[in-house]
Amino acid sequence: MPSFAEPTILILIGPGGAGKGTLARHLVEADGRLWLSRSWTTRPRRPGEAEDAYEFVDRERFLSRIAADGFLEWAEFLGNLYGTPVPQPPQGYDILLEIDLQGALQVLDRDPTAVIALIEPPSEPHQTERLRRRGDTEAHVAARVERGRGEIEAGRKVADHVVVNEDLQTSTAQLLSILGRLRESRAH
Ligand code: 5GP
Repeated sequence: MPSFAEPTILILIGPGGAGKGTLARHLVEADGRLWLSRSWTTRPRRPGEAEDAYEFVDRERFLSRIAADGFLEWAEFLGNLYGTPVPQPPQGYDILLEIDLQGALQVLDRDPTAVIALIEPPSEPHQTERLRRRGDTEAHVAARVERGRGEIEAGRKVADHVVVNEDLQTSTAQLLSILGRLRESRAH
């Protein structure tokens, strides 16, 4: 019988250019019982970025949602605000978050059973290349790689799992297996 206990929260953290977004989409497609939260951001949409990648809002709307206690967590990242609306997954689904480290720590504070997986790029040249392909400016790419070093170092201290994202299929399989074990342990 399916159990409708509290959903498990799996959080993907890691520097920009590690491939978290693609991994998150693959995980949700492969699992069928995983619900990906859609974040709010005040960052402008990048050229070519999917319209539904985020709920793109202005600062005023973001601040009023904070005031209404409408976020599970929120944080400022390189000058923009990002936040996870209080999740409302369908019954029986677990929750997948793709957020930064500051946000992950806030979620952990509210739900100590949440599990953090740090997604690392295989190398800085790899990461730089991925960021450039997204159309970020060189200055922004450099700032992200620099910030990413700190995110990896701090992330390793708090992460329950570390996945080096060299190959999408392998990384997806690793995360599915982490999720499977997590569900198993919560079922007992
Ligand atoms: P990007 O601008 O590249 O889409 O995202 C920048 C950073 O913000 C990434 O590390 C991404 O994981 C993180 N992020 C995306 N959504 C959220 C969110 O809802 N909350 C927090 N704390 N970080 C987020």
